[in-house]
Amino acid sequence: MTTTPSLTTHVLGFPRIGERRALKWAQEQYWRGATPLAALEHTASQIRARQRADYAAAHISRPPVGDFSLYDHMADTALLFGQTPARFGTLANTAEALFVLGRGQQIDGQNVAPLAMKKWFNSNYHYLVPELAADQPIRLDSARYLDLVREALAENPQAKPVLVGPLTFLYLSRGIDEAGRLAKAPALAAAYQTLLTQLHALGVSWVQIDEPILALDLPTAWLAAFEPTYHRLKAVGISLLLTTYFGDINGAVAMAANLPIDGLHIDAVATPDLLAVADRLPEYKVLSVGIIDGRSIWRADLAALLDRLEPLHRRLGDRLWLAPSSSLLHVPVDAEFETQVPPVLRNALSYARQKLGELAALARGLSEGRAAIAAEIAAATAARAALDAAPGRHVQALKPLQTRIRQAEVSRQDAFAERAAAQQARFNLPAFPTTTIGSFPQTQEIRAARKAFKNQAISLADYEAAMQAEIRQVITAQEQIGLDALVHGEAERNDMVEYFGEQLDGFAFTQEGWVQSYGSRCVKPPIIWGDVHRSRPMTVAWSQFAQSLSQKPVKGMLTGPVTILFWSFVRDDLSRETIGYQIAEALRHEVNDLIAAGIGMIQVDEPAFREGLPLRKKDWASYLTWAVRAFKWAVKDAPADVQIHTHMCYSEFNDIIESIAALDADVITIETTRSNMELLDAFADFAYPNAIGPGIYDIHAPQIPTAGEITPRLRLAMDKIPAERLWVNPDCGLKTRSWAEVIPSLEAMVASARSLRSSVQ
Ligand code: GLN
Ligand code: ZN
Repeated sequence: MTTTPSLTTHVLGFPRIGERRALKWAQEQYWRGATPLAALEHTASQIRARQRADYAAAHISRPPVGDFSLYDHMADTALLFGQTPARFGTLANTAEALFVLGRGQQIDGQNVAPLAMKKWFNSNYHYLVPELAADQPIRLDSARYLDLVREALAENPQAKPVLVGPLTFLYLSRGIDEAGRLAKAPALAAAYQTLLTQLHALGVSWVQIDEPILALDLPTAWLAAFEPTYHRLKAVGISLLLTTYFGDINGAVAMAANLPIDGLHIDAVATPDLLAVADRLPEYKVLSVGIIDGRSIWRADLAALLDRLEPLHRRLGDRLWLAPSSSLLHVPVDAEFETQVPPVLRNALSYARQKLGELAALARGLSEGRAAIAAEIAAATAARAALDAAPGRHVQALKPLQTRIRQAEVSRQDAFAERAAAQQARFNLPAFPTTTIGSFPQTQEIRAARKAFKNQAISLADYEAAMQAEIRQVITAQEQIGLDALVHGEAERNDMVEYFGEQLDGFAFTQEGWVQSYGSRCVKPPIIWGDVHRSRPMTVAWSQFAQSLSQKPVKGMLTGPVTILFWSFVRDDLSRETIGYQIAEALRHEVNDLIAAGIGMIQVDEPAFREGLPLRKKDWASYLTWAVRAFKWAVKDAPADVQIHTHMCYSEFNDIIESIAALDADVITIETTRSNMELLDAFADFAYPNAIGPGIYDIHAPQIPTAGEITPRLRLAMDKIPAERLWVNPDCGLKTRSWAEVIPSLEAMVASARSLRSSVQ
């Protein structure tokens, strides 16, 4: 990089976790009391300093500031405007207060619950949901925020403060109803205006205001609130860049373009026709084009992106700004750290730092012409071509799969009633059969054995013996407790997606591909880079061994196609549907092998089924069509007397209940305890035809439930679900609990089921 590009480049946000998850270690040490707050703040300031160095190296014209958080940006915003729940008392905007919102607190020996968490749009980041109260005044508390801005301005006077927009903040909050939240917009906007005035006094020229809710199907009242809110916000001498991301803003383009703002940022990855947006934009406004995919880990096709950008640049000149589509929070920090992945894959990766370089290259390519970045274009094209030519990328035999699955009959041969009869004849289950969701406590010994095997410290035979001993113990425990459908306990699985990815072709695993999930929690999704294919059975030996130990049915346990897909980083040259079908085909072979091995019950977990829903309703049908089809394809060959279970650990099913029913699983287990069975209403109202196991105790809490708590829940469930189709089980898997908690909890559950049985006989 020699010259500074004349085109403006900017970034909406950057990973906060630092290199090798530095922030996580510092947070957790501080929370443990091992280090003072100053040590954590020091680590944080080093991470930010390194970000600024990265921005400078890539000549990012307007680097962001204020996107960094010691925990979460929505909670930061709540503190910035004094919107914190009364149960914590008055909280000033400090790091301590932020941790209280995220992690809860003990006041006079009582646990005060933290803010709830929710998925940030359709990303895998979880934000803290601010809680508002009708009578709580807005109170700007900006000292901390202004300190951050000063820190950035000292190095680069062009630094651009980032704020969650007032309407996004209100829309995503809870505590008061929608109308009540909207009613707070004028007062909140006034506080934003004060803050903007303060920023102006520091010398800030542009401010980025994030309104990602524009990518949702917004109620009209909220859309209508943009105009008056942004009029209130317009402050002297500061230019506003309104940013939207995670989707197109379709119908709202004209409204957004005509707001009293100075620039509009759109997600170009989700917006096919960029010129149409430019047409709508008044002559004096900036169009920031989010051209680099902010959530993909793949190297950009620079030549193809320039094809899109050049006509826009000719039209807009300097009014065109370039950026990634969204904050880079959703990608890992630096692909250079991936020393263990094969070079052909590593070369095709682009994490946050690499994306800054791509942005700089595009800016030069536009302002100086393609020849100026010929080397960068050639390198990008070559890296992508090399990956595309890598063995395993394209498996010819899999190419007809999509058409085949789309056209096939994916339903099972027999209708539910016939299947239920055949299964009853085979398993002879009592009324209200009891089961668990799959995993049993992942003890220290289990983890140690898995780790030792991975590090080649113990032999395969020793490892298998250790896992078999564990399975034996889990089976014995379940028989003693008196459960009806058993599980093998999943001791061999570190993670329900990784376990399958490690055994399927087409997956790769990184060392440093961490992204923040919430607080100090990070995830490292597998990468689906090639065509997914199963070359050998993945679970059969464990299931077969477990079944050999008991006369009762032991459920085979698989993770479903949608969940494997959504909890991975996926390749960018195939549709999700295509990849989902490849996984489904691999699972179909596994299901069939389990059946051949004599396994009579098979559970296919789909906890991510709902997560996959697109942001806009209009896109739901096409997603649901392929997602349902993928699941059904995996289990379609099961004969009538094989019982297919599925599990989803949430219960907001109202709007997708038809698709849930279309899955046609013989038994679905769901999470219902925390809603006190209310969430079963969706199934009752729909007259859901198959069997249901509503969770009757919350596995997230350490408390041991008593039969006295469980029985009323079961009775509530009986009011909604016919007794002959009601199963009894916990909310989710038990891997995070201890045996001391699990045994008495399951005993209480079985006792409840038994008392119910005798009461209805
Ligand atoms: N079978 C898995 C378990 O019990 C399901 C986990 C999940 O739903 N997230 O652990
Ligand atoms: Zn679950």
